[in-house]
Amino acid sequence: MINAAAVFWNRRYGAAERAIDETVKTALKAQKVEARSFNGHLLYEPWSVKTKTGGSFRVFSAFWRAAHQVGDPELPLRAPSRLEFFDGSHSDELSCLALADLRLEPSSPDWAGGLRANWKRGEAGAEVQLEKFLNEHLGKYADFRDCPGRPDTSRLSPYLRFGNISAREVWHASAAATNAASHRTGNRNLEKFQSELGWREFSYHLLYHNPALASQNLQPRFDAMPWKEDPKAFRAWQTGTTGYPIVDAGMRELWNTGWMHNRVRMVAASFLIKHLLIDWRHGESWFWDTLVDADPANNAASWQWVAGSGADAAPYFRIFNPTLQGQKFDPGGDYVRRWIPELDEFPASAIHRPRQAPDKASGRNPKTGVAYPAPVPPGVKSV
Ligand SMILES: Cc1cc2nc3c(=O)[nH]c(=O)nc-3n(C[C@H](O)[C@H](O)[C@H](O)COP(=O)(O)OP(=O)(O)OC[C@H]3O[C@@H](n4cnc5c(N)ncnc54)[C@H](O)[C@@H]3O)c2cc1C
Repeated sequence: MINAAAVFWNRRYGAAERAIDETVKTALKAQKVEARSFNGHLLYEPWSVKTKTGGSFRVFSAFWRAAHQVGDPELPLRAPSRLEFFDGSHSDELSCLALADLRLEPSSPDWAGGLRANWKRGEAGAEVQLEKFLNEHLGKYADFRDCPGRPDTSRLSPYLRFGNISAREVWHASAAATNAASHRTGNRNLEKFQSELGWREFSYHLLYHNPALASQNLQPRFDAMPWKEDPKAFRAWQTGTTGYPIVDAGMRELWNTGWMHNRVRMVAASFLIKHLLIDWRHGESWFWDTLVDADPANNAASWQWVAGSGADAAPYFRIFNPTLQGQKFDPGGDYVRRWIPELDEFPASAIHRPRQAPDKASGRNPKTGVAYPAPVPPGVKSV
């Protein structure tokens, strides 16, 4: 035993985590150990933003207005000047392992090279990323956040997910960077950016009030949806070989870096659900396995949003047209060319419709000679 006098931790909001934390708290208290949890993860506790009748929200704009009424998020506390860690080496009863001893990193095969190349881990990585975003990209955020070929979003999602940086720190640092005191500023870049942090809050609000968010349609009428089981089409989607350039570029970016641009996440998810007619839960689960920012609230809420089965969701009949989305948000084709070497020689005018390209574009990967695939057929024939 280490004879701890007190145990403190940050709160978690999934049903299973809440149950574990509650059990731990009860057990510690029974042993007369002080046990306290804190909000280190969110701007607002999910239960602190309420409708006029004390209920929970289903519409983002109303949720965000009510959050504003609660007031500005609290300032983050300063880091303690000194932390003393328990040194297990002097204990007969308890031994400590170093992180490396857990052998969490993949070795054979080592599939994490792309992740290492793209992400600097931990708190230090988060601080570098935040500084870079505030200095170079926040000023262009509203105009360019939807362009996957540009680096103008923060890429803070994995750090927020794993608590390497807090949402409160990001909130106040972004306000300070634009010399703004609060979220009612009139600065459109800041407002847009902070409202994305708001979507994260809303997702956690939904998860807290709907613990089965990742597995059950928020709107039960979607339970009757006749989804298609099509392993071949699902594999084409997973491997970025559907024949739809913007979808394939996104799925290959995901596989190689563990991240995908938000606009392309929406298009790729819509393609799986509304073109292939494959259950959104299969997509949610693939993203959960492959994203470095895989988040129990954001991932589930976003998949339900795209499916139309969620809260404040895109209407079920809204389909992101992958060709038009590509042409609109990646007009020069830079993003597609970055991830699909087969389309390297294609001009911007044809890159999102490779079948209509001039003959001189081969449509083959210059290294492997493999041809870019023909478009995968839709889940049902149109009538
Ligand atoms: C199908 C689908 C699945 C998604 N899965 C996840 C996931 O597992 N984890 C995850 O963090 N985000 C997820 N998102 C939301 C969004 O795509 C990412 O948060 C965003 O792309 C992260 O990049 P960024 O840090 O540069 O975002 P920025 O644009 O810089 O936004 C700042 C932060 O706000 C939050 N945020 C931004 N957009 C959203 C959003 N739409 N919903 C909720 N929070 C948002 C994120 O924490 C993000 O880091 C998903 C979106 C879709 C459409």
